[in-house]
Amino acid sequence: MIFQPTYLDLLLSGDLKKRAADFQRRLKACDLCPRDCGVNRVEGEIGFCGVGNQVWVNSYGLHFGEEDPLRGWQGSGTIFFSGCNLSCLYCQNAEISQKVSGSEISVEVLANVMLELENRGAHNINLVSPTHVIAQIIKAIYIAAQRGLKLPIVYNTGGYDSIHTLKMLDGIIDIYMPDMKYSEPEISGRLSGVPDYPSVNQIAVKEMFRQVGNLVMSTQGIAERGLLVRHLVLPGGLAGSKTVLEFIAKEISRNTYLNIMDQYRPAYLAGRHSEINRRITSDEYQVVVKEALRLGLNRLDKC
Ligand code: SF4
Repeated sequence: MIFQPTYLDLLLSGDLKKRAADFQRRLKACDLCPRDCGVNRVEGEIGFCGVGNQVWVNSYGLHFGEEDPLRGWQGSGTIFFSGCNLSCLYCQNAEISQKVSGSEISVEVLANVMLELENRGAHNINLVSPTHVIAQIIKAIYIAAQRGLKLPIVYNTGGYDSIHTLKMLDGIIDIYMPDMKYSEPEISGRLSGVPDYPSVNQIAVKEMFRQVGNLVMSTQGIAERGLLVRHLVLPGGLAGSKTVLEFIAKEISRNTYLNIMDQYRPAYLAGRHSEINRRITSDEYQVVVKEALRLGLNRLDKC
């Protein structure tokens, strides 16, 4: 069967246009993410994420560094948004996330970027750090869908997402790819400035799973719809990996597509903090993988 994203149904029913307008209104007292800054971004006010009314795109293109079901053989149509609603001391992407950089573009141009990626053969539109600019993104999807966009949309998020925002995305997002970074509030507060990350993140991932279920792929192995969770193993067990994995196995699904990542490096401000100023050991990584397998999480990326 030929894949058709559900946002095209919402386009036909008129609901996509309405959701785009509803999201635009939220920019006037911004509560797009759990930081709930309340600033009027339409009038140029700036909240924690550092981004106002327009989106900043650092780069975009066909990306081959993503998980196999996303990159396929033609690449994932990745758009890197500048700014972030987290402030991780060890951010692996600080040049993009911790300062606003790249090009400031309108939603019309963003729609054209999506269509260009589709024309270049991308398997999907992969929105990297979309949380703080989701209002502008939905308007761009609405414009692009009218002009023929029909690729799955990937919501590639740090996982600090508001339930209100996620409910408004129901039927628009085909593939959710959240991080699950922590299970301990004290550690998420210390390392990323968000003590409520574990509870917010768990509620968010549950809602994502409710909307899209387990990852479904085409006969050629390309992701079409579903949930894909990323978990970065931190030095010294700081990510609380065992508890994160138990949550996925018990509260989400043992059939969750899971990428346990070993590429932690002490980037950004990590050099000032001895507990995170080293890479992880092979043993630290293998313990987490073994725990996942013990819990019945067998759908592991690249393991
Ligand atoms: S999206 Fe930005 S301005 Fe809006 S609540 Fe989150 S951090 Fe604040």
